[in-house]
Amino acid sequence: MSNFQDKVVVVSGAGRGIGLEMAKSFAAAGAKVAAISRNESSCGAAVNAINSEFPEAARAYPVDVADGSAVDAVAKTILADFGSVDVLVNNAGITRDGLMMRMKEEDWDAVLDTNLKGAFNMTKAFQRPLMKAEHGRIINVSSVIGLIGNAGQANYAASKAGLIGFTKSVARELAGKKVTCNAIAPGFIATDMTDSLDEKIIEAILGKIPLKELGNVADVTALALFLASAEARYITGQVVATDGGMTM
Ligand code: NAP
Repeated sequence: MSNFQDKVVVVSGAGRGIGLEMAKSFAAAGAKVAAISRNESSCGAAVNAINSEFPEAARAYPVDVADGSAVDAVAKTILADFGSVDVLVNNAGITRDGLMMRMKEEDWDAVLDTNLKGAFNMTKAFQRPLMKAEHGRIINVSSVIGLIGNAGQANYAASKAGLIGFTKSVARELAGKKVTCNAIAPGFIATDMTDSLDEKIIEAILGKIPLKELGNVADVTALALFLASAEARYITGQVVATDGGMTM
């Protein structure tokens, strides 16, 4: 496992699912983790769980990533608490699914505001400390849906495809400072987000996955830790899928 001793890692959406597993894994690898989620109860519980295994490794910061000024304020607090930031993982994400015929403007806005503008707000707030880091890393959690689209997810697909263009642009902008920026495109990963799908949909999904199983949070986390490591220094502007072969 990569060593993140004394590195500071900010993970958004760390209250549950993929983000919680990432926050835990970075802590297990020696990092100090700023765990962000919408609700205090969620990131607070995540941090208690992490710190019970890795004492004082994590601190909780509840904030809505869609709110630029709130993100700026939290970023200042995180910098004051930790002194530096080495890795930013933009993982917070939501779905508001519905066919175009029924999708409301507020469903579109909520998803774009969290999934895409949230990554913009966070990256803007942390770019200076990342540029000062020895190996600054930004990892954006996109989705295979951003690559191939999905009926009923026009808002989500647009947000995740937008995140890919954002990733490549930020990678180009920050390359001069040796900050890498990559996107992960998970396929269907078993979390609260996929728990809400009914069995027929799961069956249909499995039919499209060559490896014939849903992924798990560790599949995404392992990739994030690699992309965040010093060893991944020559990889930037890439979209790496972890999807059981779904988009090969
Ligand atoms: P999840 O279990 O639903 O957890 C989402 C996390 O994001 C929660 O901690 C939530 O905070 C946080 N969050 C949501 N909106 C936020 C906001 N506006 N501000 C701050 N935090 C916010 O999701 P997941 O399945 O782990 O997914 C994580 C990421 O992977 C998402 O970006 C998702 O699109 C992507 N992804 C997931 C899958 C999958 O199959 N699961 C596949 C491809 C991509 P609270 O805990 O406070 O509610």
